Amino acid sequence: MTNTNTCETCPPAQSCDAVTCTVQKLINDYPSLHANRTQALYRLLCHTGNGYEWSKGALVNVFAHYDRTKEKALKPSRVPAPFEWLKEHDPDEYQQMAQAYEAERERLRDIRARATELARTPGPLDFNPVDRDAVLTLRHDMPADLQPEWRAAADEIDDVVRLLREARKRHQETIVKQIAGHIGEISHAISRLRQSGHT
Ligand SMILES: [Zn+2]
Repeated sequence: MTNTNTCETCPPAQSCDAVTCTVQKLINDYPSLHANRTQALYRLLCHTGNGYEWSKGALVNVFAHYDRTKEKALKPSRVPAPFEWLKEHDPDEYQQMAQAYEAERERLRDIRARATELARTPGPLDFNPVDRDAVLTLRHDMPADLQPEWRAAADEIDDVVRLLREARKRHQETIVKQIAGHIGEISHAISRLRQSGHT
């Protein structure tokens, strides 16, 4: 089953070393980078140098003391702020940019407000898995003494990674993209199969 363990006491803006608490805080603090559990697990378990290190079999935030403000968390990183010089030269264009920027802030606000739910919701990854640069591999520094729920989380994202790698190797890009769009449901199904002892 998809691991949804949590200490049940951490509010979204805090975390302990439980998987779902860690995912929840990542979504809460960086909603422009993670919009579901799969994206956050991918960040945690496939990116070295992401600010998380292994300690006692769990990933812990090296910068836990850093208090990311709400204002920073809601700053769009994928939509540019409206250019001030456009105000005078092209007010319509400025208005469009300002609206797009505000819409993105609203989207981030919504993701942040739903961090608790989204930390339990697998979904599609946010990059194109057919890109040559898309890194599809688990981080190589996993310790032998992984806590069971972190082992389950690693298996969860490993399913996604292996599926996309295989698809990329064997199929055309369009098929890989289709799979990628449903990766949350697919990894859910694999987890259920694994739980029932069929894999
Ligand atoms: Zn917790």
